[in-house]
Amino acid sequence: MMNENQLSRRQVIGGIGSGVAASMMATSGFAASNPGNATSAPAAPLVDPTTKYPKPPFNTPMQPFPGLASKMNPRPDHGETSYKGSGRLQGRKALITGGDSGMGRAAAIAYAREGADVAINYLPAEEPDAKEVIDLIKKEGRKAIAIPGDLRDEAFCKRLVDEAVKGLGGLDILVNNAGRQQQRESILDLTTEDFDATMKTNIYAPFWIIKAALPHMQPGSVIIGTTSEQAYDPSPNLYDYAQTKAATMNYVKSLAKQLGPKGIRVNGVAPGPIWTPLQPSGGATAEKLKTFGGDSALGRPGQPAELASIYVQLAASDASFATGQIYGASGGKGQP
Ligand code: NAD
Ligand code: MG
Repeated sequence: MMNENQLSRRQVIGGIGSGVAASMMATSGFAASNPGNATSAPAAPLVDPTTKYPKPPFNTPMQPFPGLASKMNPRPDHGETSYKGSGRLQGRKALITGGDSGMGRAAAIAYAREGADVAINYLPAEEPDAKEVIDLIKKEGRKAIAIPGDLRDEAFCKRLVDEAVKGLGGLDILVNNAGRQQQRESILDLTTEDFDATMKTNIYAPFWIIKAALPHMQPGSVIIGTTSEQAYDPSPNLYDYAQTKAATMNYVKSLAKQLGPKGIRVNGVAPGPIWTPLQPSGGATAEKLKTFGGDSALGRPGQPAELASIYVQLAASDASFATGQIYGASGGKGQP
């Protein structure tokens, strides 16, 4: 998208509406004191999204739940070497569930590089992935708090918020991102235990965490949920999971109305097929993984890094009129 200054510059060059453009330049000090415009900087190279990241066929090993990013081949990109911050979240205090890998890790890295202190939650089995994230946050000179534990437990959810608030010295960004996805071909294969675990992780945990977090959140704070294209276009083998993502989309919209008058914004992110440990650890079949994301408009799955800027945007205070929204990044499908 062109910005105002680029537009007005073209207008000047083309002689169209030059009076308006010239007066804009005069009032904004266009040439002399607008370093953000960087007229002399070389153009950033265009990046073709179809060739930016690996395409199928894939051959990553299947893993036991919850899976590790470090064991995936190719390794997902969470923005470790690419995300550049610009102080958009300076001094914010964020808690991110599922912050060890996938979208949560991409958000954690981006938040730290934007100047936030970050607490992450994950399952104890994910300690190796979590350690990498904690090191990356610390490298930015930000506080990094690791709080492992199982979100299916209400008492733990309360403790999680207490420890995050204590460690961070407050809480103004809450990202409910953790999720359980275990595909089952038939509803007849889906046990009550399975169903319960999916509901507890994906629906109950955000409910418990939000209730514990709200008393600590001031006007200007934000809540972000990770929903999915599955909320709108469910796969036949994700009977339980897909309905939790519809519920997530729904709670975002309800809570946005409830908390709007208190100055707290609530939004959601709806990813499409993204290359994360959720898929090889039971989220997808081995067969599906081979061609994973190949049917997107870009011919490949997304990488967690490609969603980082969305989590930042929804948390940043310049997005102050965005609440009750679902922002998508699904490679051409999905209906947020
Ligand atoms: P991921 O495996 O990297 O992250 C999911 C995280 O959930 C795990 O890292 C784990 O820490 C956490 N988790 C699961 N059960 C837990 C429990 N009982 N207690 C504590 N933590 C638990 O995969 P991801 O794809 O980045 O998933 C993040 C979110 O994105 C999930 O909500 C998922 O539903 C959603 N999503 C993923 C995709 C995709 O294609 N990968 C698509 C749409 C939505
Ligand atoms: Mg993980």
